[in-house]
Amino acid sequence: MSEAPAPGLIPGTLYLVATPIGNLEDITLRALRVLRQCDLVAAEDTRRTFQLLRHFQIEKPVVSCHAHNEVARAAQLLSRLRQGATVALVTDAGSPGISDPGERIVRAVWDAGLRVEPVPGPCALVAALTASGLPTAEFHFVGFLPHKSGARRRRLEQLRTIPGTLVLYESPHRIQRLLEECAELHPDRRIVIARELTKKFEQFIRGTAREILQQCSERPLRGECVVLMEPTEAPVSTGESPAESGHPSDPD
Ligand code: SAM
Repeated sequence: MSEAPAPGLIPGTLYLVATPIGNLEDITLRALRVLRQCDLVAAEDTRRTFQLLRHFQIEKPVVSCHAHNEVARAAQLLSRLRQGATVALVTDAGSPGISDPGERIVRAVWDAGLRVEPVPGPCALVAALTASGLPTAEFHFVGFLPHKSGARRRRLEQLRTIPGTLVLYESPHRIQRLLEECAELHPDRRIVIARELTKKFEQFIRGTAREILQQCSERPLRGECVVLMEPTEAPVSTGESPAESGHPSDPD
């Protein structure tokens, strides 16, 4: 069986390319093709991206595009796109725009009447949620909490009223603090910590915040973590299994 020839990229398109969150095997075939065929890669951290490209033997011009230069860089990238260039936007790990640069540049490209094309792939939010065992039908992605204690506390209090599973990102050195805050403000909620996803020491830790703090009292949590909280109230059962409760593809 012969394969159809790979299609080329569409001139004047910004490709949003998801990259691995720990395991290089998670790069998609399409991501590799786009990275090979594009004219330019815009990267959150050029050094990290050079390492990724080198691993897959891809040589490409790379420019930086991070939180501090996204607006200025957008103007330059727009001008390249208007000339018909193809640009791949990547971040250090996972999906661009998810707690990472991307949103502003994507909006600027659409506003300029140009094309954006997603090249989906790894995302810590989706990996953590789908493997957590918590309800997936309705969830709220919180991302990172504010760092300042007042704003952080207010946000955590607000989260009490938000329905569905809550998904938070947290940096390794604030995870202990977050668990302590959850022990105070969400004491009865079941929490899942998805740690080091797709990596050698991947781990899912379950319990209330207090129980997890006890489990980790001797060996503090290290590495990258997604924190998930069960919904505040169990959904009212209709007696139907989730598969029976209506899927968009079900016939009426
Ligand atoms: N854009 C990325 C994505 O699509 O998931 C997220 C980038 S954000 C700057 C980094 C945060 O994502 C980390 O602090 C952690 O909360 C989460 N994260 C990224 N990789 C992870 C991994 N391998 N395991 C667990 N959490 C991860």
